[in-house]
Amino acid sequence: MTTPPYEPVIGLEIHAQLRTKSKLFCACSTEAASVRDVPPNTHICPICTGHPGVLPRPLNRRAVVLAVRLANACHCTVHPVSDFDRKNYFYADLPKGYQITQNHRPLATDGWVEIEVNGTSKRVRLHRVHLEEDPGKSKREGGVWLVDMNRCGVPLVEVVTAPDLSSAAEAAAFTRELRRIGRYLDVCDGNMEMGNLRCDANVSIRPAGTDQFGTKTEIKNLNSFRFLEEAIAWEIERQQDELRAGRAVEQITILWDEHAGVGRLMREKESAADYRYFREPNLINVHVDAQVEADALAHLPELPLARQRRYVEEYDLSQSDAAQLAEERPLADYFETTVAAFRGSPKRVAHWVRNQVMNILNDEDNEFNDVNTLPMTPAYLAELLNLVESKTLSETLAPQVFQKVLETGLSPQAAVQREGLALTGEDETLQIVERVLRSDPDSVQQCRSGNEKALNRLIGQAMRLSKGRADAKRVRQLLQEQVNVQP
Ligand code: ADP
Ligand code: ZN
Ligand code: MG
Repeated sequence: MTTPPYEPVIGLEIHAQLRTKSKLFCACSTEAASVRDVPPNTHICPICTGHPGVLPRPLNRRAVVLAVRLANACHCTVHPVSDFDRKNYFYADLPKGYQITQNHRPLATDGWVEIEVNGTSKRVRLHRVHLEEDPGKSKREGGVWLVDMNRCGVPLVEVVTAPDLSSAAEAAAFTRELRRIGRYLDVCDGNMEMGNLRCDANVSIRPAGTDQFGTKTEIKNLNSFRFLEEAIAWEIERQQDELRAGRAVEQITILWDEHAGVGRLMREKESAADYRYFREPNLINVHVDAQVEADALAHLPELPLARQRRYVEEYDLSQSDAAQLAEERPLADYFETTVAAFRGSPKRVAHWVRNQVMNILNDEDNEFNDVNTLPMTPAYLAELLNLVESKTLSETLAPQVFQKVLETGLSPQAAVQREGLALTGEDETLQIVERVLRSDPDSVQQCRSGNEKALNRLIGQAMRLSKGRADAKRVRQLLQEQVNVQP
């Protein structure tokens, strides 16, 4: 018997830590959740560790502003009034016995995010965007379970998609896009390694072309793009095997074992009723008033995908150049400011930023890791490229000047002058060419009979004589002319 082809149906629940200084309902610092090696249980207080009888402090306004900003960028309806619920469950790293979240009336609903996978774009609908607090963390060390409460009460935004994704690759693309948007908006760091961005994937399959949903399973807490893709692909396979063997898919919760590359049954699926959600009695409603809206919308930048597309259309960049330059806002801003000040083609700037500038930023052995503090500012980079454009500096020496500017902080113009790197004038170039011709008659002879290698050898000698200052194109022209006129 042949079984029908199946198509996957995937919906994601993504938790992103909001970029706030303090926790959601107390004054404790969120530092431990974004900085490595902070000693456990050092950023805690009676509120976030749920001592009996304590009350939450008023809601962190910054967290609301950031979540509203993200919701707006994702085309959601932001509700002027929402409220908090308790999600009750017992867990060692949840000292209060409940998590404060928004269940019945979330901050925002019904949006969408556009993604691009292999050149095809797709709108992924969002069910909701809401605020909640993080629980703590438990880990096993020396044979015992330990609990670190530094994360307790750290503000999260949860984004829940509709079941609109149809492959592991699309799920990863969505998560990447959401992360990129969050980082553009200064809403989150999206550092998956630190657990600042985590993803639960809901997966089901159905016969291709049908529209009834199959039973879904949920894979919990995926904390890297690779695990996300691997886990979803694994689960799709597993469900197919089940159905093909004539068994049913059970509604379960799965924990991904990243070392073994397999999912493990975590629990039979709990239902909403198991959490006994109820209204948090100690907190008033969340009001998104005009001032919160205004703060959320202030400095809302052009979104990354729009920017990436503009680079292709307006600047004629390749897809991969555009994607790489638009990935992070500071670099994209750097690139565009340079383009604005440069007289030549934006493609030249793209080439320089992707190579020289990004190499410097990615080089772990130097002190430059922030494009905004680079001595080679956009104005300087434009100046450097303009020097080449106006034939004041040879293409060959431009990287050397780039290096000098980084080392000395001089302007490119000043560096060229101080180091004596300016392009040779016509007279000097001609003198150099003549010297080369006199010194290597053999190559000249071979050149006359059309030997390209010999010509390149002569060009190389001239460039060496000029210490790279000559314009290689002009040297080639002059050599060709001279070889032919001289006897
Ligand atoms: P639950 O009540 O079980 O948490 P929700 O309706 O809240 O389910 O949906 C949770 C997530 O699961 C959402 O991202 C949603 O898109 C996704 N989802 C719902 N049904 C399916 C399905 N049949 N297959 C895959 N994902 C689904
Ligand atoms: Zn606290
Ligand atoms: Mg749910």
